[in-house]
Amino acid sequence: MQGLMMDYPLTMDRILEHANALHPHKRISTKLPDGSFHRYTYADLYRRVKKLANVLGSLGVGIGDRVGTFSWNNYQHLELYYAVPCSGAVCHTLNIRLFPDQLAYIINHAEDRVVFVDATLLPALEQVVDQIGCVEHFVLFNANGEIETRLPNISFYEDLMAEAEAIFDWVVDDENMAMGLCYTSGTTGEPKGALYSHRSMFLHTMGENQANALALVESDVVLPVVPQFHAMAWGLPYACAMAGSEMVMPGPHLQPQALADMIAEEQVTIPAGVPTIWMGLYRELKANPRDISCIRSLVVGGSAMPRTLIEAYEKELHVPVLHAWGMTEISPLGTVCRLQRAHQGLSEAEKWDVQARQGYPIAGVEMRIVDDAGEVLPWDGETMGEVQVRGPWIVRAYFKQDPLPEHFTPDGWFRTGDVATMSPEGYMAIMDRTKDLVKSGGEWISSVELENALMAHSSVMEAAVIAIPDEKWGERPLGVVVLAPDADAVNSEGLVEYLAPQFAKFWLPERIVLVDELPKTSVGKFDKKVLRQQHAEGNLG
Ligand code: ADP
Repeated sequence: MQGLMMDYPLTMDRILEHANALHPHKRISTKLPDGSFHRYTYADLYRRVKKLANVLGSLGVGIGDRVGTFSWNNYQHLELYYAVPCSGAVCHTLNIRLFPDQLAYIINHAEDRVVFVDATLLPALEQVVDQIGCVEHFVLFNANGEIETRLPNISFYEDLMAEAEAIFDWVVDDENMAMGLCYTSGTTGEPKGALYSHRSMFLHTMGENQANALALVESDVVLPVVPQFHAMAWGLPYACAMAGSEMVMPGPHLQPQALADMIAEEQVTIPAGVPTIWMGLYRELKANPRDISCIRSLVVGGSAMPRTLIEAYEKELHVPVLHAWGMTEISPLGTVCRLQRAHQGLSEAEKWDVQARQGYPIAGVEMRIVDDAGEVLPWDGETMGEVQVRGPWIVRAYFKQDPLPEHFTPDGWFRTGDVATMSPEGYMAIMDRTKDLVKSGGEWISSVELENALMAHSSVMEAAVIAIPDEKWGERPLGVVVLAPDADAVNSEGLVEYLAPQFAKFWLPERIVLVDELPKTSVGKFDKKVLRQQHAEGNLG
């Protein structure tokens, strides 16, 4: 027997309609390239999204066509986040920091017909103009007609908007239609496309807003520092609209000083970004304190938040940290680390230990850990296995690729490539990505644990641990460390000695190299691929 409930498509226009009906006066502020603010409301967004939907039609964009965006976080990008899917097309967010060949690869792979470009980023896109013949139109914003560019077939966003009508009937009635396309940043091989549907993104938005997840509410002011080209800005632009939260878009202003000012002046309650951003902000706030008591949750994900940094924020700055884990392939939110009633009796130090874990899977994400033979492993807080997930906002195949056994299991789970333990309460602790694990003499060594321990040293600012080839053991860990500018002198031996009491002997790196800077990926993670190349000689005699 079938249920008797409405068949109501879960589409993105429903979220926008909700925001416009319930929260028309809530503000969306964007810090413009010149440092001033552009401010408008959800009602303004709504009206302009309708205009933009008409603009897309006038450019010949049809149902299912891919539309690229090449931009910082700003109101125009937000308009595209809604207008493209709500007019039946697919919003393909291009990572502005990709190497030219990768950028050209994903534009061609996606077959983007139109690309909307923040004119402040023109040079990066111009580099590939001769390789992206699929693009018929480029639409520029944050520019006027005087700009010079090598891009062909350009038009100006505001000119097109001025001519467009603000009346548009939403066209998507099939919730399974594609709405967005995001490529992984290609740290392993060619970038792969995650193609989100209206339904998956709608459900992700509800999942993200559950009380046990990010739980945005109407009184929040959210600062997505995470770029809109990185895993849909972690879904925040949709979650804010569903909750009625105000948004502050930082544009190109991602330096610690600018972020600190923005948080204090705009009274941000939820800033969200990767750990390297919060590392910079912490140093800024220590040097030049601001009143940031407005923050109720500092959301961090994308790579492991060092325990010491959690402690520093909570103890010194009184800012609650909310650690989360996700992947482009999971839309992206998978786990969140909120303390539960069971943690109430813990000391502060024990609580920070828990918060350094990535947390429990949110409802809607099913999770298991599995060994090399495919056996499901226990949640005992010790056994390490590959994390596998399934659920309504998780990829079942990559764009234009048949599902491969290295990505999907025969029984329908997505293989994340992360290795973790699960505590009996269901708190995941990521030990590594499979490709970053150090395999020494047949045993696994977690680079993440060593990094966390190194970053707890008072003289260490950043630390990465990589596997280097070794004649005897196959691989050995190598630490690569950046010292804090005002640090007490410490050398490689000193750091190894410091680690010694905390780890089994075979985990200890023989050497720790001090460097001025660690290479970072396009989304601000330590770039271990580059580090491995830099230290490829290893201990090969
Ligand atoms: P890319 O694959 O390009 O790095 P993603 O942002 O999708 O792009 O990366 C997802 C990966 O980032 C996860 O598989 C995991 O390895 C890592 N990651 C994300 N959040 C965390 C976290 N809180 N702690 C540790 N690792 C994380």
